[in-house]
Amino acid sequence: MFVEDLGIVLRSQPLRERDRLVTLLTENHGRVTGVAKGAIHSRRFGGSLDLFTSVSVRWKESPTSELVRIEEACTRKDFATLRTQLENISAAGHFADLTCRLSQDHQPAREIFLLLAHYLVALDTHPVTQELVRSFEMKLLDRLGYSPELECCCGCAAAFDGVNSLEVAVSLQRGGFLCGDCTPSGAPVVSGHTLVWLQHARLTPIAQVHGLRFPLMAQEEGVQVLQDFLRYHCPGLQNYAFRSHALLEQFLAENAQRPASTQSTAAARSSAT
Ligand SMILES: [Zn+2]
Repeated sequence: MFVEDLGIVLRSQPLRERDRLVTLLTENHGRVTGVAKGAIHSRRFGGSLDLFTSVSVRWKESPTSELVRIEEACTRKDFATLRTQLENISAAGHFADLTCRLSQDHQPAREIFLLLAHYLVALDTHPVTQELVRSFEMKLLDRLGYSPELECCCGCAAAFDGVNSLEVAVSLQRGGFLCGDCTPSGAPVVSGHTLVWLQHARLTPIAQVHGLRFPLMAQEEGVQVLQDFLRYHCPGLQNYAFRSHALLEQFLAENAQRPASTQSTAAARSSAT
């Protein structure tokens, strides 16, 4: 049976001498992995099977294997500008890698497909920032249904505002944070600014994330909290080394050393996130 869909190339590697093994996240059929015969030397596929490329793709399913046979792929967007900056390539690689690990074969995940597509456009039009990368991770958790509860205490349900959220404790098991009254003595806490950081990362519309700037301390705590939540809740990420994209992390850390006068919190609550 032939199937047609839109897809984004998450992984692409040579297979034997002439073929490519390609994993795509498709708009309507989830993650699809297949073999593109003769893709290495023939012009049939052009650059359509390069990493991150957005394609119209047609494949043939196999009755005996999860692997499909990719018959045709036409480039819709090649993200050429993104590919001119090493840091942006590295960020796109991180997004594709996370997406590949957290999506499932043939399980539709249209929201995640759209999230990745919009973030690749953001990387194609803006320099990568800490805020852009972390907001992708936060929104990915959100789309997967694992977003931490950020509005109220997981212990007593009191809304986080004012003095009860000056410091909060992370509770991975309960999927959120505990207010001062509910925090066991000696438990490690994070600043309320970090909570606000995470709220903005989740709620700011994708088209505006390049304008987000967060205070340095909240960034450092926020990165740690976010990665702890990703590892805790997402099957397959327990042993994922976020530092594997060392170049990206180094660049983001250096880029975060801004003078205080340029730091601001760009609140942008909107339902269109
Ligand atoms: Zn509480």
